[in-house]
Amino acid sequence: MAHGRKALLVGAGPNGLAAAIVLAQAGLHVEVFEAESSPGGAVRSMELTLPGFLHDFGSAVYPLGVGSPFFSSLPLEKHGLEWVHPPAPLAHPYDDGSAILLERDLEAGNAWLAQDGPAWRALTQPYVRRWQDFAPEVLRPVLAVPKHPWLMARFGMKALRSATSIAGHFSSERTRALFAGLAAHSFLALDEPLSGAFGLLMAITAHAVGWPIPRGGSQALTNALCGYLSTLGGTVKTSSRVDSIESLSGYDVILCDLPPRQLLRLAARQLTDGHKRKLQDFRLGPGVFKVDYALQSPLPWRASDCLRSATVHLGASFEEIAQSESAVRSGKPADKPFVLLVQPTLFDPSRAPAGKHIAWAYCHVPNGSTVDMLPRIEAQIERFAPGFREIVLARHVFNSADLEQRDANLIGGDIGGGLMDLRQVLFRPTRRQYATSAKKIYICSSSTPPGGGVHGMCGYHAAKLALSQLSRGTPR
Ligand SMILES: Cc1cc2nc3c(=O)[nH]c(=O)nc-3n(C[C@H](O)[C@H](O)[C@H](O)COP(=O)(O)OP(=O)(O)OC[C@H]3O[C@@H](n4cnc5c(N)ncnc54)[C@H](O)[C@@H]3O)c2cc1C
Repeated sequence: MAHGRKALLVGAGPNGLAAAIVLAQAGLHVEVFEAESSPGGAVRSMELTLPGFLHDFGSAVYPLGVGSPFFSSLPLEKHGLEWVHPPAPLAHPYDDGSAILLERDLEAGNAWLAQDGPAWRALTQPYVRRWQDFAPEVLRPVLAVPKHPWLMARFGMKALRSATSIAGHFSSERTRALFAGLAAHSFLALDEPLSGAFGLLMAITAHAVGWPIPRGGSQALTNALCGYLSTLGGTVKTSSRVDSIESLSGYDVILCDLPPRQLLRLAARQLTDGHKRKLQDFRLGPGVFKVDYALQSPLPWRASDCLRSATVHLGASFEEIAQSESAVRSGKPADKPFVLLVQPTLFDPSRAPAGKHIAWAYCHVPNGSTVDMLPRIEAQIERFAPGFREIVLARHVFNSADLEQRDANLIGGDIGGGLMDLRQVLFRPTRRQYATSAKKIYICSSSTPPGGGVHGMCGYHAAKLALSQLSRGTPR
């Protein structure tokens, strides 16, 4: 079937590379065209502040990367990938100078969760125990027929609920705040349906697979994907922006690691008017404002337990985090933004000169916002780590437009490939999902199921569909 067939991938983000690998494994001749001078999209590392300080441009922590059914099937370790697991997946400090840690081990977590331990376990344990069954089901189109219907029906009943409703299971304000931080990864207001699903999924991954970082930075994951692709004969051509698909001939299938808005521009002549209208209706999610720091020393946390995790969530209570996220959803930057912070050099010193450190922090903002959130982000860090500003050697700021300039998929700073509300989770980006109205053109970015995050499963499923249609002769 594949002999002599040629595939083109537009975009070398994790989904583009995953799709390229699936097609190359099937024997197709695969070429990847990437606009930027290095592959990886939002999975790249670079010296953004000072020489010798290696920062992650986009993603930094990879629960869905290490837990991805597809990535786990690849020999990425042979191509230099090493996952570094901090002792605890997540720390969440409070105003009284204490913190709660989300432990990988559910039993060890009981000590932190105190009276909420049993409720936390009841919500997460069934899926933690069966991660190998659960992950392939949750990381694919929602409307696909499940292989484990009881497991998924049970999850689905909870998943439709809001974070506010699920937090009602917990009696302690501290546990409610912890859950709010997890649910805020949804970019939804915490009283919206589905926001609870993200909180649960993030908690489940913490216990099932951990929240690791790649040694050497996120680029190590991209390099491993590219390295393995090259053993299959696939090639990645960087500094090769595609402006029109029409100009590209000789390919049997074209998979686009692009959001709908970009696809519309590149393939305007190939798509039907009806399909174009549907793609135009796809809505973006909020953006982010991000800061990278070169630091003199580790962060001076009031709660020293925060030094046991790479990831720290800053937002002291459920209400504070809920207010931050609902402000963003209604188009206003938050006064006290919920801040996600990563301190990788505590666990991987290779990324900074001896004794020095890096940190990565961002908050959510309305899509395309140009408001300078730096003072508000630093006020939040100082609140939990007083004296932080004194240890900053250099900082680099990305507002939403700066992010888009370095990765055209991050439209208005949207890092999730489009809003993940109920409609766009079911029909992502349209009812056709990975297919388009043009027979040989597919979309494989995080604007397709299962959505944002580094797991490669959008690319995997898109490539599988392309292969099955190719074998039936459809794309020709
Ligand atoms: C600041 C930030 C923090 C994040 N944190 C995390 C995290 O910690 N963990 C996590 O799992 N996820 C995180 N994410 C989200 C995650 O990185 C994305 O969901 C993921 O990278 C999406 O992969 P993708 O392949 O769909 O798109 P991208 O990674 O955006 O890749 C798309 C690629 O296509 C290229 N491209 C675009 N247009 C063209 C064109 N016309 N021609 C050729 N090439 C083109 C781009 O240059 C880019 O390389 C974060 C993202 C950002 C930006």
